[in-house]
Amino acid sequence: MEYEAVIGLETHVQLKTKSKMWCGCPNEFGAPPNTNVCPICLGMPGVLPVANEEALRLTVLTGYLLNCEIPRFAKFDRKNYFYPDSAKNYQVTQYDRPSTANGWLDFEFEAAPEGVARVRITRAHLEEDVGKNNHFDRHSGVDFNRGGVPLLEIVSEPDLRSSDMAYAYLRALTDILSRAGISDCDLEKGMVRCDVNVSVRPKGSNTLGAKIEIKNMNSFSGVRRALDYEIPRQLDAVRRGEVLRQETRRWDDVAGITEPMRSKEDAHDYRYFPEPDLMPFEPTEAWLEEVRARIPELPRQRKLRLIKDFELPEGDAQVLTDNLALGHFFEAAAAGYRNPKAIANWVINNLPAKLTETSTTLESVKFPAEFLRELADLVDSGKISSKMAQDVFSEMFVSGVRPSAIVEQKGLAQVSDTGAIEKLAAEVIAANPGPAGDYRAGKVAALNFLKGQVMKLSKSKANPALAGEVLERLLKD
Ligand SMILES: [Zn+2]
Repeated sequence: MEYEAVIGLETHVQLKTKSKMWCGCPNEFGAPPNTNVCPICLGMPGVLPVANEEALRLTVLTGYLLNCEIPRFAKFDRKNYFYPDSAKNYQVTQYDRPSTANGWLDFEFEAAPEGVARVRITRAHLEEDVGKNNHFDRHSGVDFNRGGVPLLEIVSEPDLRSSDMAYAYLRALTDILSRAGISDCDLEKGMVRCDVNVSVRPKGSNTLGAKIEIKNMNSFSGVRRALDYEIPRQLDAVRRGEVLRQETRRWDDVAGITEPMRSKEDAHDYRYFPEPDLMPFEPTEAWLEEVRARIPELPRQRKLRLIKDFELPEGDAQVLTDNLALGHFFEAAAAGYRNPKAIANWVINNLPAKLTETSTTLESVKFPAEFLRELADLVDSGKISSKMAQDVFSEMFVSGVRPSAIVEQKGLAQVSDTGAIEKLAAEVIAANPGPAGDYRAGKVAALNFLKGQVMKLSKSKANPALAGEVLERLLKD
């Protein structure tokens, strides 16, 4: 029998706000332990939380970006559990009335039909992060700097079918969140963590197998490796006739295996109830409109637009999407220009090469984007050769002087004056009767020699194509 894997992801992402979710403590990484804390995020008795409005905006913005419904009523609930890293002994979350629900994410995935896969999004809700346990040789400590930091939990439907697909989904999701300024999604700083639900079932079946959850993954490659271990493990078990039971497993990154943490029997009963200290959240149309105004162009949309508007090859559009600053520079230079591909070549190849060579950043480049359009136009209109353009570009990069001025200063302009070239060509023909005769006798290759002589005589300034045309015409006379 053929089997398939069924995978759903719960992705936790720290929101990019200045302060924490319920208090004014800074939301920052790397401060000395327990310095960004106050009675509210330490869960002291008698304190009252105040919801961070920016966190609510970022949650709703995520909802819009993931094509979710935005209910006009959402509320907060307490999820009760006792862990040393949870100062309050409960976590405030959105249980049955989340801020966003029922959306989807389309993302590029090679193995999908037409290269685009869709994963449905069950919900994206707002909650708070907990502290961080640190284990030392003889004791453990808790750092509450992270406690109360706003956390978005994005739950997908079990629409993923392979480790590669899960990886592509996570990349696409975090691309969107960072592009929209919702989260920096810095994995090194623990800003994205993931719980992976995975089961196997006969291909084509609609029922789900026992839910096996791998908790607290903190890298995308870890998720991929854990699935590459866990899916074959479950398949083996099922083929041996074993019945898999619901359980939570832990990924051991060093050993490269998953191992049981707890089974369904010791699953938590979180005793959810509405958070009595917070009002339900009922956004007005005006408030939602403000959030919608912050919807940015997303990477995939951007790439498709660059292909359509500038007729760029996909590879170029991808580079100008991945590197947003370079992309903006390109658009400023190419807007309305007849040959955007020529500008893309400068922006994708020559410019980054120069930046690397001189250890400069794009922000400190001395010439404005329009100068690249002028340079491309000098080449496209035949005023300078593409070889000369390289020199002009180098000069412009150093001095910031506009290309037409450089061409004038250095007398680089290509000679495209037919009369002037005719004079040179006649001179060359007269001085080289042998090759001229060869050409007239049908040896076409002799033209190249004569052309070379015209170029030499013009000190390489003659327009080579025009020189060829003029020679051919004169030799036929
Ligand atoms: Zn605080």
